[in-house]
Amino acid sequence: PQPARSTAQSTAGSAALFERAHAVTPGGVNSPVRAFNAVGGTPRFIESARGAYLTDVDGNEYVDLVCSWGPMLLGHAHRDVLAAVAEAAARGTSYGTPTRPEVELAEEIVARTPVDKVRFVSSGTEATMSAIRLARGFTGRELVVKFAGCYHGHVDSLLASAGSGLATFAVPGTPGVPAASTAATLVLPYNDVEAVRAAFAEHGDDIACVITEAAPGNMGVVPPAPGFNAFLAETCAAHGALFVSDEVMTGFRVTRSGQWGLDGAVEGWRPDLVTLGKVMGGGFPAAAFGGRADVMAMLSPEGPVYQAGTLSGNPVATTAGLATLRLATDDVYAHIDKASLLLQEAASASLREAGVPHLVQSTGNMFSVFFVEEDVTSVPNFEVAGTQRVDRFRAFFHAMLEQGVYLPPSAFESWFLSAAHDDRALDKIISALPAAARAAAA
Ligand code: PLP
Repeated sequence: PQPARSTAQSTAGSAALFERAHAVTPGGVNSPVRAFNAVGGTPRFIESARGAYLTDVDGNEYVDLVCSWGPMLLGHAHRDVLAAVAEAAARGTSYGTPTRPEVELAEEIVARTPVDKVRFVSSGTEATMSAIRLARGFTGRELVVKFAGCYHGHVDSLLASAGSGLATFAVPGTPGVPAASTAATLVLPYNDVEAVRAAFAEHGDDIACVITEAAPGNMGVVPPAPGFNAFLAETCAAHGALFVSDEVMTGFRVTRSGQWGLDGAVEGWRPDLVTLGKVMGGGFPAAAFGGRADVMAMLSPEGPVYQAGTLSGNPVATTAGLATLRLATDDVYAHIDKASLLLQEAASASLREAGVPHLVQSTGNMFSVFFVEEDVTSVPNFEVAGTQRVDRFRAFFHAMLEQGVYLPPSAFESWFLSAAHDDRALDKIISALPAAARAAAA
């Protein structure tokens, strides 16, 4: 039986599991942000999820605004996805051979995105790592340009911080990454056209690719300035470099293709390579990179650039992804877009009412609330994002959690909605906002 819900949440079960986890796992978690280090308190150990809701091991229910950090576009435990997965699993879970679902998922992805061909991997990290290798193999060049605040997974060469000054070579962003791994990475400020021009003026003949989040969601949501992605695509083309658009987070989430549906498809340009993950795995470990046919032809076994994976294109994962994408119709996106706008306005109204300076930024249905001071009128890059009052976010986060709303446990993340966020779920969030805003003001 479920424990009776008291007004104060019990977290005894989560706390006990966290303690056991600490004994056998560094920090008690398998991915750092889950440890609640940025907000403090006990991370909730989730027992089950359905639709828009999570239930933790103590029986507390939360409206979920994390959606597994993006993948659960349709909500949790969607009946048709589960049925497809059960059927696939019953046929065996991995063969190490080519299979039908991976062909069908590849066809679906090629139909929805600007890629000619696609290769499956098991995580977004693998996707960006492989895309970088392919870009270097194709161009015969080594330098990679990335932007501060863009996260592309834990790839050595992309775990780089900006060196001092513009257009200097990067330094490792973590112990364990050799200086040599980031020595060929240039880190530039996001949305800064002049910095990109300067980098190409100095190093243009040596740049293999520019990689960017199609719309950054990992420093909070920082939309590309109008024309910024087009400018990157053009600049790369002019210098014989490749433009790698990382749509791991935005792909199949902000439109039926991704961020490209909001800019490239409208403006008439295509990235050379795209990385994908999250939604396309339907909650399973599946990711991909794809792009121009001539570039993808460089990939093993067709070409000389090596890349492989025991579980790549796994039949259960690709079945889940295919079922998810087939159910992700225009109506689904219209619903999520509308829900997102409603929440953005409600969050802003509550914070305004409580006198808390803030800024809401979005790209399509992905949005985040920046707890920046009054004089900040836009967050165009990582430097400005870093001026947030994280103490205010912390108070806001815990007040929401106490009221049964599960926000991302960091101020530098997007909030994610799903097709399962119906009026009841949205009402629960909206009615929790005023108290959380007051907590942030205190
Ligand atoms: N690229 C982007 C834009 C991401 O948001 C992420 C993960 O959040 C990754 C790459 C890495 O994906 P994964 O966590 O599956 O390795």
